[in-house]
Amino acid sequence: MQLLDTPKSRTTKQRGLILEELRRVDTHPTADEIFGLVRRKMPRISLGTVYRNLEVLAEQGLVLRLDGGGGQRRFDARTEDHYHVRCLGCGRVADLPSLSIEIPEREAAAGTDFQVVGFGLEFLGICPECQAAAAALAADDTPEGVKE
Ligand code: ZN
Ligand code: MN
Repeated sequence: MQLLDTPKSRTTKQRGLILEELRRVDTHPTADEIFGLVRRKMPRISLGTVYRNLEVLAEQGLVLRLDGGGGQRRFDARTEDHYHVRCLGCGRVADLPSLSIEIPEREAAAGTDFQVVGFGLEFLGICPECQAAAAALAADDTPEGVKE
């Protein structure tokens, strides 16, 4: 039995690699995409292990869970305050430069019986690839005779 193969150290190693791979990208990948990245270095890791460890990392505050847009949950290793823009076409999420936005949380809390614990804010847009795809589609739709 190898010392490095105890369940505890295997978990630590897996979780460390997941965090490392997530820190390497700024694409806000889904668990499936992170699985693809991690598997290149740890071929025997399972999708379930990746899912489980991402949730643990999120509970530890080391990664952010990005829900919303109706798509798959995405993850972000950049945990300091920043905003996101989500593509309405393909669902990709990009970082925005830090913005000065004042959210009147106390005012919001005063208007409800809910205990307000936070807020979510996400900008919506169309990414460059989806813009290009839409432009190409529009060009294709132009009737033959109309083209110059
Ligand atoms: Zn897009
Ligand atoms: Mn981000």
